Amino acid sequence: MHGRLYNQLDLEIAIVPQTPLLIKSGQKASIDPTLPDMQFVRTRRRTPSGDVDEVVYIPGSSLRGVVRAHAERLLRTLDEKHACLVDAKRSCLRQKDQKEDEVSADRLYRESCYACKLFGNTGIASRVQMSDLYPAMEPLSESRFGVAIDRITGAVAVGPFDLEVVTDARFEGRIVLRNFTIGQLGLLGAALLDIADGLVALGHAKSRGLGRVRIEFVRAQFRFAHEAKDAILGVGKLAPENVGNDYKLPDNDQLTVQGLNAARRDALYHQVDSDSDEQIRKWLAEAAPRWVQEVRNVS
Ligand SMILES: [Zn+2]
Repeated sequence: MHGRLYNQLDLEIAIVPQTPLLIKSGQKASIDPTLPDMQFVRTRRRTPSGDVDEVVYIPGSSLRGVVRAHAERLLRTLDEKHACLVDAKRSCLRQKDQKEDEVSADRLYRESCYACKLFGNTGIASRVQMSDLYPAMEPLSESRFGVAIDRITGAVAVGPFDLEVVTDARFEGRIVLRNFTIGQLGLLGAALLDIADGLVALGHAKSRGLGRVRIEFVRAQFRFAHEAKDAILGVGKLAPENVGNDYKLPDNDQLTVQGLNAARRDALYHQVDSDSDEQIRKWLAEAAPRWVQEVRNVS
């Protein structure tokens, strides 16, 4: 199925910290005494003038980890079996390892849990790609003083150390969702809206109130391999019947959305877009309840 593109959502987002944010670098603390012990992760990039500079950024893998973990929490709230535990016996990966080597792609997909169907595992590709998020302007950061307290003795276990937190920034990036069912769009939307509403935090020291963010939906573009009037079309609606059967895709995989009309883009695709944050939130919120319905029907 991944050889063909039936539908796609291209979502441009901006993440704006509401409380100090620290996404830790994986590297050990620098020996440079002027740098904080716990630094914000940085990457090198070329500026328009051709110079190379170092900037703080949010790795796509960090955002993806938070979104997947929250989506899994939502799924497990419905039933434990909908999101496997990677290290446990019930992991989709382990089930795959125990089978013969030659397992068809559709069977791996069919037999994976709902979380793995959307976010992938070693056997099946993810439907969701997240880019790294770069600051749109020079971010403001500051050093915070921190200690880790030993839970038992109450003594200082680690520290004191400095935390480098970003206090004012706007990180921009993209999320791309391909060959999605309406339920998968809904689950991704539900997880993003919860982060956007500050229910789920990002990065280090979340329990101490760090990492609350706002998500701004800058632009959304839907693309479908078919004409779509007042509707978002899922892959179950767009893929041929034999593919739908092999992958056990949902029937009637579309969401009625008044006024959402995709116009012809080229010989293959119809597309519709919006740069209204309010409009995009509405689309995601309308799709959100559908994951519950879909999970119940598929399992
Ligand atoms: Zn799984």
